[in-house]
Amino acid sequence: MITQVQEGVYLIDTMALGLKGFVAAYVLLDEKVALIDTGYASSLDVLLSDLDSIGLELSRVDYVVVTHVHLDHAGAAGSFVKFATNARVLAHPKGVKHLVDPERLVRSVEEVYGRATAACFGRTEPIPPERISGVDDNASIPLGKMRLRFLHTQGHAPHHLCVYEEANALLFTGDSVSGTYPGFPVFVPPSVPPSFDFFGAVSDLRRLMGLEPRLLMTPHFGVRRASRDVFEDEISLLHWWRDLISSEKERCDDVESITDRACEALAKRFGVYVKEVPGYVRLNIKLAVEGMVGYLDRLATRG
Ligand SMILES: [Zn+2]
Repeated sequence: MITQVQEGVYLIDTMALGLKGFVAAYVLLDEKVALIDTGYASSLDVLLSDLDSIGLELSRVDYVVVTHVHLDHAGAAGSFVKFATNARVLAHPKGVKHLVDPERLVRSVEEVYGRATAACFGRTEPIPPERISGVDDNASIPLGKMRLRFLHTQGHAPHHLCVYEEANALLFTGDSVSGTYPGFPVFVPPSVPPSFDFFGAVSDLRRLMGLEPRLLMTPHFGVRRASRDVFEDEISLLHWWRDLISSEKERCDDVESITDRACEALAKRFGVYVKEVPGYVRLNIKLAVEGMVGYLDRLATRG
């Protein structure tokens, strides 16, 4: 499903894994056309038919910007550019090699999620090297009236960037902010393995706050009104989460039990009651636990 956010700006619900309100992509129509994130490879058909429904010829797409290489963001990029034959993929320089040769990326996804779940993400096609470029921190490109500026924001992952559309003050956050998932309306910190960096994530949020964006265009999920308070809330959520996981980890080092306790704590913090956390959401919370545990372990060994 595709909805217009404002003139020339659309939100696509990629219906990831058949779920509504789980993974978003965005499209910007100006003299040039940019797609920001693509969703999973398995959502390609939805992406193509949504773009068709607003009358956009795929040959008009100039840029496919991926906020990072995780498959819910970049999974469909390789297959998409086979259809959008004039499009160039833009990514963080550290992400380029993973998209040109996605074998390692796919393998690590299989390790994290298991083969059966990873298969649901679809086949990640390589992007030909001549059709992808790395973008520097603070680099910008004009689309017409709109202009995109890229910000390397590496707390979530070393290959992560945010995109700021300057004319309308729209911040495409990628996973630099928390996510909320269907069936369990809490905000889950974006602390995924293998290289989540707590202080990096906090300084990313401070830098993004300094842009004074009007709207946050989040992948998980949708458009949120931006304000100083929204960023301060994100920062205090990260601190709370670090302290929670750190003290749960002291009591027991079983990730499944820490995840159960974390689900309860999130429900309490956000004042929601659900009888059972949906399986896929629980998996995302477990990843956020694992990423924070990994961070704390790295910190402890560094001393
Ligand atoms: Zn994501």
